[in-house]
Amino acid sequence: MAKFKGIRIVKEPTYSASYSEFDESELMDGDVTVRVSHSTVNYKDGLAITGKAPVVRRFPMIPGIDFAGVVETSSHAGFKPGDAVVMTGWGLGETHLGGYAQKARVKGDWLVPLPAGLTAAQAMAIGTAGFTAMLAVLALEKHGMTPSRGKVLVTGAAGGVGSVAVSLLAKAGWHVIASTGRAAEADFLKHLGAAEIIDRAELSGPGKPLGKERWAAAVDSVGSHTLANVLASTSYEGAVAACGLAQGMDLPTSVAPFILRGVGLLGIDSVMKPKAARLVAWERLARDLDPAKLAEISTTIGYDQIIETAPKILEGKLRGRTIVEIG
Ligand code: NDP
Repeated sequence: MAKFKGIRIVKEPTYSASYSEFDESELMDGDVTVRVSHSTVNYKDGLAITGKAPVVRRFPMIPGIDFAGVVETSSHAGFKPGDAVVMTGWGLGETHLGGYAQKARVKGDWLVPLPAGLTAAQAMAIGTAGFTAMLAVLALEKHGMTPSRGKVLVTGAAGGVGSVAVSLLAKAGWHVIASTGRAAEADFLKHLGAAEIIDRAELSGPGKPLGKERWAAAVDSVGSHTLANVLASTSYEGAVAACGLAQGMDLPTSVAPFILRGVGLLGIDSVMKPKAARLVAWERLARDLDPAKLAEISTTIGYDQIIETAPKILEGKLRGRTIVEIG
């Protein structure tokens, strides 16, 4: 197959994304070519397709920051034709042609084997967002956070990072407080394991440098005032893993939580995460995520629904994770 389907983002004459066809000769350098079977819709994909933030830095671009598929050809020692693989980050869909296409060519060093026990669709139900949630949980654990320390808060709980974080933390035995702006998703979040639901409006406005100690730990995918308020209500020597910016990139806080309560602010980046840490996170995801819960947080769409679906994630309208069958 020299030609293959893929979404093409161009910036001239105006920034636009369209369903298109590519020739294999257009693929970028890499030592592994993959037949993509599944991708997903992440927040960053919404930004790329709409052009609302400059995440695409090479044109033309195939968006899609993650994929799962099967190796077609490889000159990398770690992979051979027929191997099932998963790819997240490393600039995919930003600087390197991405996952919303039938083919991708990438560096073998970027790939991880499809974890034992997961199908390609399940790996993409997890995708970049779920992988990031796992990195956040691992960071909290590395900081010494255990359920015996108190409660854990998850913000943006009904979103992709949030819903996987709620599931993982509940499974690990935490009393999970889920913060959401969607009251209608309370039952969904309780089913995933949330013990309490709070309205995100409690956290989204300008707050005080310190508040009542309400949780020992938190996973925040929202940023801005929300993260500032989360820090202000984290208990003594607790920790907050900061993963996202759904409310904003700013962080209007003070040093009070750090110097008066010894709170730890743990930064989470999934894009450049070294391979050894990726393997640990994927193994744990395959072990700890209940397949039934994973199915509950997932919606599946077809390739030809990507462009209409992507803007919805920026409006906070997608629940959990959205898998794309590339076909
Ligand atoms: P989703 O859109 O699925 O989830 C974000 C959630 O945040 C929404 O569902 C909503 O949750 C909440 N939210 C949205 N807008 C606002 C707002 N204005 N104020 C407060 N809460 C809001 O996105 P993802 O889960 O895919 O990504 C979440 C964030 O994490 C994004 O900013 C993304 O860029 C970032 N991210 C970072 C990664 C990293 O490597 N650090 C990797 C992956 C994602 P609810 O409806 O429950 O209120």
